[in-house]
Amino acid sequence: MTTLYYYHKDFLLHDTGLGHPENQDRLSHINAALDRVEFKPLKRITPVLRQDVLGLIRLVHTQAMMDKVLQKVAKEHYIPLDPDTLLSEGSAHAVQLAVSAVCDAVDKVNDKQANNAFCAVRPPGHHAEPDQSMGFCLFNIISIAASYALKLPHIKRIAIIDFDVHHGNGTQAAFANNADVFYASSHEMPNYPGTGYPSETGVGNIVNVPLVSGETGKQFREKYRQQILPALKQFNPDLILLSAGFDAHKDDPLASIQLDAEDYLWLTQEIVDIANRCCEGKIISVLEGGYNLYALAESVSAHIAVLMKS
Ligand SMILES: [Zn+2]
Repeated sequence: MTTLYYYHKDFLLHDTGLGHPENQDRLSHINAALDRVEFKPLKRITPVLRQDVLGLIRLVHTQAMMDKVLQKVAKEHYIPLDPDTLLSEGSAHAVQLAVSAVCDAVDKVNDKQANNAFCAVRPPGHHAEPDQSMGFCLFNIISIAASYALKLPHIKRIAIIDFDVHHGNGTQAAFANNADVFYASSHEMPNYPGTGYPSETGVGNIVNVPLVSGETGKQFREKYRQQILPALKQFNPDLILLSAGFDAHKDDPLASIQLDAEDYLWLTQEIVDIANRCCEGKIISVLEGGYNLYALAESVSAHIAVLMKS
């Protein structure tokens, strides 16, 4: 079986300006790492803009918020949606292409054209709430993918595992009342955005596992073993989506958790094992954060190498 790798050069058109941690170099470093011979079997896909992309975005977001993000931006201007979240001339195109890529991955994995997929998209998405872009995120791409997948035949229950070091407040907001979607997140607290307490459980479908500054891979793994992985198994999803952020790495500048690439490898293997038992291995992994370029490239490589062996 195949692992799909989605990338489009137009993801680089989302320009966040000088010195922003969420910049184009992130994808260039990932692509350079994936040039290695062991990644040759990846099936590389250049996504195309879907005709139904606005309808897909509307599954999660309000029209007013969509209008704001999709407005025309002049070449020489940046429009701030919040202090960290900028719109450039190419942002609207880049984010619609990212949504198209991830939904195409849902189709192909669901049709068994591939075992799983990794989508190297920008901008990230998990902070975007149904009515508000924030935290580097324009639209909530993983939530759009989940909402889309739920409309396909044979997909009744979806699990989203979010191992980005920040809480996916937007994803939680999108599904807090939807028992068909399980959302589990591990995230440093206190840190941006400030949500993600264990008491936030939705309708029993949400598991929040805070991490403490300085926490190591050993403690991280224990929390997954004790809390997230058993809950995922019990939920028994028809499809697993990953909000794959790599900013819990020890070298990441935006957080202070002490993971290394081996920890991402371990976690990916654990999730693959569960996916093989509950949903024929169907996983779609979507890039979120990760801001040390070298740590990001190494961690994504470890993650994809496991997906390819599944
Ligand atoms: Zn993050």
